[in-house]
Amino acid sequence: MPRAIIVGGGLAGPCLAHGLRRAGFEVALHERDDGLARAQGYRIRIGPEGTRALYECLPPHLYSLAVDTAGVPGSGVTVLTGSLGVIKRVVVNDPAAPTTPDSGISVDRLTLRQILLAELGDAVRFGSEFTRFDVLSGGRVRAHFDGGASEEADLLVGGDGPSSRVRRQLLPDARVVTTGTWAVFGRTPLTPEVAEITPAAALDGFSTVISPDGRFMPLAGHRYRKDPNSLASGLSFPDTRDYLMWVFGVNDDVSRLDPAALLDTVEGRIADWHPDLRGIVRRSDPDTVRAVPMRTAEPVAPWPSGPVTLIGDAIHCMIPAGIGAAVALRDAALLSAELGAALRAGAPLVNAVARYEREMLTYGFEAVAASQRPRF
Ligand SMILES: Cc1cc2nc3c(=O)[nH]c(=O)nc-3n(C[C@H](O)[C@H](O)[C@H](O)COP(=O)(O)OP(=O)(O)OC[C@H]3O[C@@H](n4cnc5c(N)ncnc54)[C@H](O)[C@@H]3O)c2cc1C
Repeated sequence: MPRAIIVGGGLAGPCLAHGLRRAGFEVALHERDDGLARAQGYRIRIGPEGTRALYECLPPHLYSLAVDTAGVPGSGVTVLTGSLGVIKRVVVNDPAAPTTPDSGISVDRLTLRQILLAELGDAVRFGSEFTRFDVLSGGRVRAHFDGGASEEADLLVGGDGPSSRVRRQLLPDARVVTTGTWAVFGRTPLTPEVAEITPAAALDGFSTVISPDGRFMPLAGHRYRKDPNSLASGLSFPDTRDYLMWVFGVNDDVSRLDPAALLDTVEGRIADWHPDLRGIVRRSDPDTVRAVPMRTAEPVAPWPSGPVTLIGDAIHCMIPAGIGAAVALRDAALLSAELGAALRAGAPLVNAVARYEREMLTYGFEAVAASQRPRF
């Protein structure tokens, strides 16, 4: 049985682990964090290609669990002024329509990751940080991890996000640039008091507050369709309260600010906006407030394929535009399908990797370009 090492237990890595297992691979997935707690945005929108990838890679009951624990669907995207006037509303979805593998869904990232990592058992090694790889004679690869451990496999896949060490070694000239903007984001529990001051549009899809001077604040509710802990899945989800996720873009380096100072910064910058918006920010759960730099990958030319490849943000990270997760999941599904087909045909795995890379580089960097186009 061929063996694959996957680096990164975000979204793409665990989805690929399921896909490759179903395709007939033995898999080891290494995640540098000790557990699932890392905050990187809470409610995420997964476009139809991402839902289809989950459908194709996950065992059917885990796919169903991902859909059942998604958010109540909304009907559209609304652009609001700082005083909560509606600038534009686009209806994109019929909330009453059944969810199919070709529907977009919104999910809680942590809940989805918990589902993705379920049932991978001891294939998942938390607290295992990849450091470098060696390509061995005969086409295999050896991956090294912090602390001195190493493992050999037929394939190494870097799903290790925008700062990917796998990419830095494989493609040292590939550039990821910071845009200078930081996304400060947080989560406000959707208590009855908060629901009262929440713009209706934020509970019926996705909303963004913008002002002519360039300030912007996406705001969207996550209300679980079904309480994940009521679904007899065998999993225990730590926090299943409904919430509002807000994101505020700032153009200076806020990396040194603690959550309280980040909250003060956001509140100060929206002081002239509607008091309800400040009320939502002020009622955030302080532990959930974080800042991440906006980064985007520059286009990468094809490289000679081998036993090391990349998926997700490790190759085509982009500024948050509601696209990155779906594209990362699509990579996982495509790579699984190509490798599975090669395995069944007894064809060399490297040819499958080459086909995957050719297609992925095209749609991946089209998505990067799309993320940079003004949307409102
Ligand atoms: C605030 C915010 C909001 C967003 N909202 C959306 C949205 O609504 N819709 C959407 O489509 N996209 C959204 N995105 C983008 C989306 O989060 C990413 O595209 C997606 O997470 C990419 O998945 P990934 O698995 O490739 O990488 P990641 O999710 O970044 O996972 C990489 C994993 O690799 C691990 N890792 C890193 N280095 C190592 C190492 N050396 N060894 C072992 N493990 C390592 C990390 O700990 C991490 O768990 C958002 C991003 C942000 C920041």
